[in-house]
Amino acid sequence: MRIGAHVDATNPLDEAALRKADAVQFFLADPQGWKAPQPRADAAQLRGSEVDVYIHAPYVINLATTNNRIRIPSRKLLLSHAGAAAEVGAKGLIVHGGHVNAGDDIATGFDNWRKAFAQVAASGGHGVPVFVENTAGGDNACARRFDNLARLWDAVGEYGVGFCLDTCHAHAGGEDLLDIVDRVKAITGRIDLIHANGSKDAFDSGRDRHDNLANGTIDPDLVVEVVRTAGAPVIVETPGGVDGQATDIAYLRDRVGR
Ligand SMILES: [Zn+2]
Repeated sequence: MRIGAHVDATNPLDEAALRKADAVQFFLADPQGWKAPQPRADAAQLRGSEVDVYIHAPYVINLATTNNRIRIPSRKLLLSHAGAAAEVGAKGLIVHGGHVNAGDDIATGFDNWRKAFAQVAASGGHGVPVFVENTAGGDNACARRFDNLARLWDAVGEYGVGFCLDTCHAHAGGEDLLDIVDRVKAITGRIDLIHANGSKDAFDSGRDRHDNLANGTIDPDLVVEVVRTAGAPVIVETPGGVDGQATDIAYLRDRVGR
């Protein structure tokens, strides 16, 4: 069981060592911005490291939207992050499920997802596994509720897309963590990464505020059970810096076993 943390991008391997992490996830550019990633001086080190590397794509990316001025740059930005993620030997590039605007037909959103992957597949692929992550909020999200996730997978499944299950997002998004691994796998056939997070907010609140595993509103035994049954690597995206995350990693290792 590989367990790691989302860390600052400056010295990710040092951050991994401080947390005794087997894996790290970080951003390659400002998560709220549209800038393409810059080449990293530590790319060869990251590629050769025993520590598994995952890259989180910027939050601004929305492959579903009907707004051309967001959707087209989103495709370009995802592709540039995919190239940079491949440079650092990433095992996956995580991107949120996106949404359409109020009043739009969400079927268009799923079709926009399909087109995004079809276009890249036709020109050689992303060059790194892309994992779609479930999200917590919004009424028009493609990957908050699993009825929509199933429709999204009908659109993109054939392109070999991976899935990242975030426990905070599922809980806050209104999907019960009990038996969630089976329910996800019935839809996607796979779970490639777990984001093991507590939640500061209530079930189905639609709010995305992560908490440490022993705190918050999620029974930590449910998160442990998700990690145990998913059989996928784990990243904690929890607060509290080195201490908070090292505690969460140790908590999972103690209870899940290695
Ligand atoms: Zn997450």
